[in-house]
Amino acid sequence: MTIFADFFKSKTPQPELSVSDAAVLEPSVLEVPMPEIEWRVNPRAKRLRLTLKADRVWVTIPPRTSQATTDRFLRETHSWLKEQWQKLQQRKQQHDANLAQNPHFSPNNTIEHQVHLPVYDATWVFDVSANYSRLKEVEQTLCIPETNKNEHLRKWVKAKAQDYLPDRLAELAAEHGFQYSRCTVRHARTRWGSCSRSGNVNLNASLILLAPKLLDYVLLHELCHTREFNHSPHFWAEMYAVCPTFKADRKTLKQYVLPSWWHV
Ligand SMILES: [Zn+2]
Repeated sequence: MTIFADFFKSKTPQPELSVSDAAVLEPSVLEVPMPEIEWRVNPRAKRLRLTLKADRVWVTIPPRTSQATTDRFLRETHSWLKEQWQKLQQRKQQHDANLAQNPHFSPNNTIEHQVHLPVYDATWVFDVSANYSRLKEVEQTLCIPETNKNEHLRKWVKAKAQDYLPDRLAELAAEHGFQYSRCTVRHARTRWGSCSRSGNVNLNASLILLAPKLLDYVLLHELCHTREFNHSPHFWAEMYAVCPTFKADRKTLKQYVLPSWWHV
């Protein structure tokens, strides 16, 4: 989300506020310090403009703008900027709080600087640096090379998934008397899993990011396809027999958002 204000020909700036739902939020207890303002000279810019986005703030400067004009602009917009910054932080906190209320969500996975694996009840914090040549796991820290950061991260997730998912599938199959041929773990963007006619089960490595309940639902869903190769009422009856909460699980799964680094 971006909030910006244009100031044009106005001695006392009257920012156009694009924040309309800020009133529903409780005041923030934590004051998040504002980041340093970045300067960007843009040859096409016609006016000074201030932009807030995620955790960055920058001022766009038209060519040939004097330092004095820019300084005055920043002085005049300072309190507006501070207020918007706090509102943005409050919204972020509210967003995280909403996610945390849903027990099936792993709120940590929506944060771009750490990864949470619910089945291990563990969180790893990212330490991204050009000094690393390969990804290393040091206790609860993931040391990630800066170049191709996301690719390194996806490989790590895939390895974790490979460690867990085939064993879990075998366990569930044994528990409920299913038979399948082979289990393959892949990086996939859209499908959580699939099952071939010959009983090969393909699983999306990102399943490892899900709460155990949802992960099991997907595995059981694919196992049920070894008996019913369709989504007929017979299939859902099989599903109900092994996972009576499947309807709710399915709904929750549809709302799940994978972290942006998962997508290539
Ligand atoms: Zn299916």
